[in-house]
Amino acid sequence: MTAPTVTGPAHDGPADDGPAHDGPAHDGPAHDGLAHDGLGPLLRWLPRQPDPVDLELVCAEHDRPGRGRAGRTVVQLDGCAATLAPSVHLELLAAGVSSLTVRLDECLAPEVALGVVDQANALLTAAGATVHVVAEVTGGVRRRVVHRTDDLPVPRRAVLGLRPGTRDAVVPRPVADPARAATALRVLAPAVATSPPAALSLLAAPGARLEVTGCTGCGTCVRSCPTAALSLRAGLPHPDGSVTQVLALAPVDCTGCDECLTACPEDAVRRVGELTWADVVRDGLVPLAEVRTVECRRCGAPVPAGGGGLCPVCAFRRSSPFGSLVFPEVPGPQNAAPAPTTAPRAPGAA
Ligand code: SF4
Ligand code: SF4
Repeated sequence: MTAPTVTGPAHDGPADDGPAHDGPAHDGPAHDGLAHDGLGPLLRWLPRQPDPVDLELVCAEHDRPGRGRAGRTVVQLDGCAATLAPSVHLELLAAGVSSLTVRLDECLAPEVALGVVDQANALLTAAGATVHVVAEVTGGVRRRVVHRTDDLPVPRRAVLGLRPGTRDAVVPRPVADPARAATALRVLAPAVATSPPAALSLLAAPGARLEVTGCTGCGTCVRSCPTAALSLRAGLPHPDGSVTQVLALAPVDCTGCDECLTACPEDAVRRVGELTWADVVRDGLVPLAEVRTVECRRCGAPVPAGGGGLCPVCAFRRSSPFGSLVFPEVPGPQNAAPAPTTAPRAPGAA
């Protein structure tokens, strides 16, 4: 893995003059599909700047964010730099940052923050991008203006319309972290989408490599996946009314949470390894299973063609109209262990 670049002179400056930080910024409501690290406004602001931005990120707890190296746009985070995902660094670079420095001179967990920068740089190097992130473990003495993520300045030239920013689009922020990193990598090194470099095949991504056998096409795993990484697509109907359904995985959306493994009623899903970043940045779906289904005669749910034509629930209801379907592991009288049989004691026996 590539070591992060670490720079900076010894810190000997006077007390900080940065602004007070009075609370976190939010990108919006929790259902808006964005990441909620407070960096949405910054990611929307960056591409609209008329000149490239040399960005420095400073932790919320830093005592002297206003003292440092000159010539940078200093933005104080809402939290700790160590809690940022590597994808955030990639997103900032893809949004038009010409240099990205993460200030760690007062960080309480520098090894964690350095690890994040390390991961981001490893991905950038493997993808063939020409930019990288700098971790700075020493400060500086020049007095600078410190911005907050929810209070960023409008450039005077942009206000006057003399030289507005030329880029409108920002990197979209879907929920899944691998998707955000992959989107940024495709912006920084467009060739990765069609022919990922071999180095990306050596870097493990968060997603799971799945194998599916014995799928009935019920769709439970699709509904259980929190990031909509699984899909079940039906083809055109066959002459007998059945359809071929394909269960597929979008590696870019998989976070490796294993929800689909536990949700599948057939135990059809197995994790057989990890996805690599080459799998993630390559656009497309990975087919996992193909199953021919018909609609359940009673409720319309998909059931495998050639079976009884009823889904498990309707089949149970037909065989036991007044019964309840209780799984064996649920405690209750239905599943109580049979009482031990003891021979009747003979009268007068000891
Ligand atoms: S893998 Fe399991 S949960 Fe998913 S559609 Fe197939 S049988 Fe249903
Ligand atoms: S492991 Fe399964 S449930 Fe979790 S994100 Fe990946 S596909 Fe979805």
